[in-house]
Amino acid sequence: MSLLESQDRIASVEIFVVDLSQDTPYLGSLREGESVNRSGYFVRKGNRTVYPRKNRSLVVRLRTADGVEGWGETYGLVAPLATASIISDLLTDFVVGRDPGDVEIIHDDLYDLMRVRGYTGGFYLDALAAIDIALWDITGKIANQSISELLGGTLHEKIPAYVSGLPEDTLTKRCELAASWKERGFDAVKFALPVADEGGVAELTGLRNTLGGEAKIAIDLHWSLTEQNAIDLAKELEPHGPWFLEAPVPTEEIEALARVAETSGQRIAVGEEWRTFYDARLRIRRNACHIVQPEMGHTGITEFMRISRLAMEHGLEVMPHATIGSGIFLAASLQASAALPCVTAHEFQHSIFEPFRHFTGDAMRCEEGSYFVANSAGLGVEPSEAMRANMTLIPA
Ligand code: MG
Repeated sequence: MSLLESQDRIASVEIFVVDLSQDTPYLGSLREGESVNRSGYFVRKGNRTVYPRKNRSLVVRLRTADGVEGWGETYGLVAPLATASIISDLLTDFVVGRDPGDVEIIHDDLYDLMRVRGYTGGFYLDALAAIDIALWDITGKIANQSISELLGGTLHEKIPAYVSGLPEDTLTKRCELAASWKERGFDAVKFALPVADEGGVAELTGLRNTLGGEAKIAIDLHWSLTEQNAIDLAKELEPHGPWFLEAPVPTEEIEALARVAETSGQRIAVGEEWRTFYDARLRIRRNACHIVQPEMGHTGITEFMRISRLAMEHGLEVMPHATIGSGIFLAASLQASAALPCVTAHEFQHSIFEPFRHFTGDAMRCEEGSYFVANSAGLGVEPSEAMRANMTLIPA
């Protein structure tokens, strides 16, 4: 039984949509045949995936009766009000009154509520992720410990970062952008096949010639290939020394993924779309990947740690994914990563992170090829006034 006084129990849950819109869409300008519809969405032809023209995210603020605030965030790019409604209509009343220090128990209680109906992923788990991060933040603040300390200790004070995405229109400009990051101390980069207009081999060759033989160059295949096409492409890329290949085949095709991992000769990275330990276990036990990429915005801290510990148990590297967000779930991802020996690198979503450094406190930095992890209570960051001006409260 908790020894906490009732003042330390959760008293309120607020939900905000954060406007993160930018002039250049994520992954670069729209290609021929791509256009924005009435609702503000467009589809990338290269990966058949929908994106909003204006980036956004979903943030929650939980408060204890004593006024301790915890911030959480989840994926809000597409239909953010669906996730907001799950939180306000359903989850809030199961969180209010709880002891935030029971965060893993609360997570599992909320997960159990909808299991028999098959809500074991997607928007439902996104909603849980936001609440989970906020509960960890409050727990750290009450204990006056960073989240990495709560998770066992700060093993890494800095974490190698790789530059993700080169949102320019031509290969020449993309190589120039990569070169400018190299000058800033970043020797690792990842490009996305759907916007590599001349194909993966030309893109890798161009970047290799620009960055040199030592640079780490990864390729995100965006689940766009068949098993055979992925194996064939891996062979073509081999002479140019790719760092790893990400998400080669559709996420449902676990057997195909395992065969690509076994026969392509390249290291295969997956995991950004997973929500839970169960998603991870299906692939990891099948030896279907070499690198695991949990996305904090989808997993929350509780499932992120469970996934990463399973990866570690199987001798795999963990390189956390970094999706589009305001930075709150990025802070959570860095805190969790700092406590994990299996984390060897972390994605740096520079085109999102750089323009929106809207944090007070022990702010996150990504410089000279590394993230520097905040070391104050909880997440170590909270929204600045500038960020709050871009946050819209969603009525409960
Ligand atoms: Mg990816």
